[in-house]
Amino acid sequence: MNMKCICPECKNPIDLSPYENLAVGHIIECNTCGITLEVTFMTSDEIKTEIVDEGK
Ligand SMILES: [Zn+2]
Repeated sequence: MNMKCICPECKNPIDLSPYENLAVGHIIECNTCGITLEVTFMTSDEIKTEIVDEGK
């Protein structure tokens, strides 16, 4: 699979290579701005995410 994900915060592509078994509900981190994102929707070539408010 060769999925792509654009960060909803900084609009940069997120490197998904560290996440080999991504699924809906998984948490990923933008390697550009460092924001935490939850995977909300996946297709074979695209991932949609939502910003997670961790209350930091
Ligand atoms: Zn970002």
